[in-house]
Amino acid sequence: MPRAASLCGKPVTVTLARSEPASAAERKHITILGATGSIGASTVDLIKRSPGRYRVVAVTARRNAAVLARIAREVGARFAVVAEPAAFGELKDLLAGTSTEVACGEEALMEAAQRPADWVMAAISGAIGLKPTLAAIERGATVALANKECLVCAGSLFMRRAASAGATVLPVDSEHNAVFQALGAGPREDVRRVILTASGGPFRTWSLDQIKEATPEQALRHPNWSMGQRITVDSATMMNKGLELIEAQHLFALKPDEIDVLVHPQSVVHGLVEFRDGSVVAQLGSPDMRIPIAHCLAWPQRINTPSTRLDLARVRELTFEAPDPVRFPAVSLARRVMETGGAAPTVMNAADEVAVGEFIAGRIAFPAIVSLVEATLDAAAARGLLADPSGIEGVVAVDHNARSLARGLLPEIAVKAS
Ligand code: NAD
Ligand code: MG
Repeated sequence: MPRAASLCGKPVTVTLARSEPASAAERKHITILGATGSIGASTVDLIKRSPGRYRVVAVTARRNAAVLARIAREVGARFAVVAEPAAFGELKDLLAGTSTEVACGEEALMEAAQRPADWVMAAISGAIGLKPTLAAIERGATVALANKECLVCAGSLFMRRAASAGATVLPVDSEHNAVFQALGAGPREDVRRVILTASGGPFRTWSLDQIKEATPEQALRHPNWSMGQRITVDSATMMNKGLELIEAQHLFALKPDEIDVLVHPQSVVHGLVEFRDGSVVAQLGSPDMRIPIAHCLAWPQRINTPSTRLDLARVRELTFEAPDPVRFPAVSLARRVMETGGAAPTVMNAADEVAVGEFIAGRIAFPAIVSLVEATLDAAAARGLLADPSGIEGVVAVDHNARSLARGLLPEIAVKAS
């Protein structure tokens, strides 16, 4: 049984909240992988609001040395890493004279994950986050998991390794965090169904013809959440909900037919759990990622956040609708992928990463994102590439091959969509 799932069903002994600031020995040592992104920024914001409570071991970024250096100074990080060597000189200059050690490259990224922090925020975007997150898992850390790609690409392996290393996986994704909180309301074996909500994205009310013409600028304007580019486009296609179905399957050891999706445009109810007696327990909150992040940061306690208090009288209406499979085929595609299993989820994610990049660059049309993912899955199946990859290197190889396949299919998809 995965660690997070086993934690969900059990009452947790909560000690009285400690007053701040904590003594140096009591401070939680934390690392933020992907510190310069949207989740990273929200995490840093919470840390800065609790001076003395946390000691920051490491912060990492892909190449934005200026933002990473600012964060490292603000939180007093001991180690700052940029993945791209080209950004190293700038990082080094910007942190000269501070006590922050600096490094670059893939090995340094792994080292950041391996340095002894009690709590690691896994907020790198994309499948590239898998190896460093696993490195944190394997030393038994508590990992606040924002990087859903870890579970989509290597869910069984990831949860198995977490259990054997004694690591704790805490879900950051708002829907999964909501489910995690709601699961505490009853025994795990009495859970009948889990429901993930979806905002429906910016094109929820658009016709199929309008959606065909959607531009990157329109897709990047999410109605409720402020997030990184890939997840924002994934919310517009609803591929994000497809990825989240697979994420929930692994996090909570659920069968595909035990997970439902409900479109809820207000993004106030984040996730629901139905128990055998018909009770449905939900978690609600303003659409602000600092709420689930704070839940993971303080777990099993609670801390204050600056988030807007939920005022239901002001929200007035909470509405729900079934997802439309015609205008948003990504959710049904993800369901098929879940049933296929093996390497299919890894292929789906890789093809989607390529497709979203191409769409943002203006090289393919919006509906071509899901078409490319589907065509890549078909091509991978035809080549016998959907067998369960063995080990992490197998997953990385599938990811790599699927990206090449997707790139090879681009001209064909672009012609079809035009
Ligand atoms: P983002 O694009 O804003 O930030 C990504 C971070 O990862 C940045 O710090 C970037 O420098 C780093 N990064 C990217 N490529 C890298 C590479 N090759 N090597 C090393 N570092 C790299 O993304 P985000 O919106 O913060 O999302 C992060 C993760 O959290 C994603 O997996 C996303 O699905 C998940 N998530 C995000 C939200 C949200 O509200 N933003 C909500 C739920 C889940
Ligand atoms: Mg989510």
